[in-house]
Amino acid sequence: MLKLENISKTYTTGDFKQQALNKVSLEFRKNEFVAILGPSGSGKTTLLNIIGGLDRYDTGDLIINNKSTKKFKTTEWDSYRNNCIGFIFQNYNLIGHISILDNVEMGMTLSGVSASNRKKKALEVLDRVGLKEHAHKRPNQLSGGQMQRVAIARALANDPDIILADEPTGALDSNTSVQIMELIKEIAKDKLVIMVTHNAELAHTYANRIVEFKDGQLISDSNPIKKNEDKKDKYKIKKTAMSFFTALKLSFNNIRTKKGRTLLTAFASSIGIIGIALILSLSNGFDIEIDKFERDTLSSMPVMISEQAMEMTEEKLLELNNINDMEEYIDEEVIYPQQPIVDQVLHTNVLNEDYINYIEKIDGKLLAGISYTRATALNIITKVGDTYKPLSLNMTDLTSIPKKMDKDVVGVIEANYDILMGKLPTSKEEILITIDSRNRISSKILEAFDIDTTKEKVSFEEIMGKELKLVFNDDYYKQLGNFFTLNTDFEALYNSSNALTLKVVGIARGKEDKEALTASNSGISYTEDLVDYIISENKNSKIVKAQMDADYNVLTGEQFDISNENQTSKETLISYLGGSDIPMIINLFPVDFNSKEQVLNYLDKYNEGREIDDQILYTDLGNIISSLSGSIMDAITIVLVAFSAISLVVSSIMIGIITYISVLERTKEIGVLRALGARKKDITRVFNAETFIIGLCSGLIGILIGWLLTFPANIIIESLTDLPNVAKLNPVHALILIIISMSLTMIGGFIPAKMAAKKDPVEALRTE
Ligand code: ADP
Ligand code: MG
Repeated sequence: MLKLENISKTYTTGDFKQQALNKVSLEFRKNEFVAILGPSGSGKTTLLNIIGGLDRYDTGDLIINNKSTKKFKTTEWDSYRNNCIGFIFQNYNLIGHISILDNVEMGMTLSGVSASNRKKKALEVLDRVGLKEHAHKRPNQLSGGQMQRVAIARALANDPDIILADEPTGALDSNTSVQIMELIKEIAKDKLVIMVTHNAELAHTYANRIVEFKDGQLISDSNPIKKNEDKKDKYKIKKTAMSFFTALKLSFNNIRTKKGRTLLTAFASSIGIIGIALILSLSNGFDIEIDKFERDTLSSMPVMISEQAMEMTEEKLLELNNINDMEEYIDEEVIYPQQPIVDQVLHTNVLNEDYINYIEKIDGKLLAGISYTRATALNIITKVGDTYKPLSLNMTDLTSIPKKMDKDVVGVIEANYDILMGKLPTSKEEILITIDSRNRISSKILEAFDIDTTKEKVSFEEIMGKELKLVFNDDYYKQLGNFFTLNTDFEALYNSSNALTLKVVGIARGKEDKEALTASNSGISYTEDLVDYIISENKNSKIVKAQMDADYNVLTGEQFDISNENQTSKETLISYLGGSDIPMIINLFPVDFNSKEQVLNYLDKYNEGREIDDQILYTDLGNIISSLSGSIMDAITIVLVAFSAISLVVSSIMIGIITYISVLERTKEIGVLRALGARKKDITRVFNAETFIIGLCSGLIGILIGWLLTFPANIIIESLTDLPNVAKLNPVHALILIIISMSLTMIGGFIPAKMAAKKDPVEALRTE
């Protein structure tokens, strides 16, 4: 049963109050065709909206199923509209972007009827209104009369007990009006139909009860309910709920009608994603490359222990920074003494036998090689043309080949150098010529071999087999009383049977991929055997022995001041004379990255519990390079990601605006959905679905474009750095970015979606 008791409704617009209904009491039978007549503004639509649960009364009561609706919850009203009421509007109110069939199905969709049942029922009612063949058309492909039939079919679809029609023929010509009225009369056979009209003729022809309104008041009723009439009829009320899939479908269809805009929006909001995708794939690639580089190359960069080490701790760097702080000028007539900066960062390592023994005990498996650079006093005599003279070379021109510690491990030279001709030296008499990546070598070295360096180039053959003469201290230095002096009879020295002949047995060049390590290493390389031999000979030489006993420089005759802080002078001269076993530089070549860690741990352990002066600091060359490149890359990544993140935020604001516009555009649809029983929640869902789709699109577009951009990026990077395929998009990153894009757009669209849900359905239906 349906009964209005003293219902009043006043609309307030600003200061103006308009009473639309004034104490209306009216009861309806379960099955009758009621026409409501009255002039415009008399409150007919308001009455219908209140009966239909679209609008709320101020005072009085609406009794449904003998139950007051005063305490009805919003969801109860939604269910009531969905299952009990079928609305037919003057302007049809069909949803334009979905098919006729979908329009008719919408009420059932909202109440959760299965897809197959929905379609069956929808086609049934469409057949009843004579539009079955038009089921797949869109509303705008139909005439007015046909659209109203669709609206009637929609009103009937959920099989409601009450049909509310608000001037259903108001926009139709008289012929079509008659057809529609016939249809409604037909429906009214087993339902309560309440129809508003201002066409008295139609009302009298079709309706079996006529109710007249004026100024919000009931003025006549042609067939009021008698006291003894049976009122036991009940209406079923079932809960409604829109599934997210329905919301998606609805929004997808809506979006389809504005493809261009959606695509542009999605593209614009994908720019942030593109940026981040590209940056991540680059940094990802660089990480992989750097990792590979570390493993391949940097691990073969030695850990260097030399007499001087840089103490580049963070505190030190900060300290240095303060020292160099030139910002403030001091207005004092004083001078501050300052320790030389170099002294502050340079640590003097006192390498001694103890330490060498410690180094020798490193697990051999961890190292590919170990090289000791000892001051070997290579007294070399050369014969250039007809003149004999000692060879003076830079330290860097002469290097010893690191000795292999483990038979299974390829020696560092073999790993890093290509032998271009000949072989690696294996005995103390054999030497190797190493050239740089462009086959260059110091002309001084070539001259030592009596090669004419005025020529543009020298063939490999020319240098192969060339010889140098090595002379030992006892021949090289002559004793004069307490002092020694250089033997200047170089020809005799050169031809002496004591001289050792060093012969070039091979030419080598740094491997192409190891260029960074070997580029500067051109010169003469000799075996450790030679070093051992020279040192053992020189150790026992007269000059070294004399020097060990003396407190002064036996070579130059200058006094040593032993009390001087520069205590190493005596030892330095002995090393200079090639009489010391203690190396000046130790290079440790770890097998790989992990073993390097272990080697470093081992070296650190030595320093534990030692005074700073007794500590031996090392320089990890590989780490210096990798931490530099790694941290630069990290910094760049962070900055770029931050920029892109800003564009993501901007795009989510944009999505908010777009969604807001969409809410404005879809206001009518919101009203229709609400009239069909959609809950506020469902409306939110519709717009969330829209932003979900846009977010997904923009995520996918972003990832696709980002991925496509990695190709040109790789071409550019390869041309700049020779590293192939650096930019790689990690699929996990791609997935996360799509999710981020969807989340951000949904956040952006959240407020407009909430606004949409709050819209008053009556107002929403009024908008055009
Ligand atoms: P009818 O359908 O009989 O033409 P209505 O029920 O639409 O009349 O309106 C009754 C009165 O209430 C009218 O004066 C109208 O201007 C006013 N009215 C209706 N809806 C609103 C509203 N949402 N806000 C303000 N006034 C309204
Ligand atoms: Mg009206």
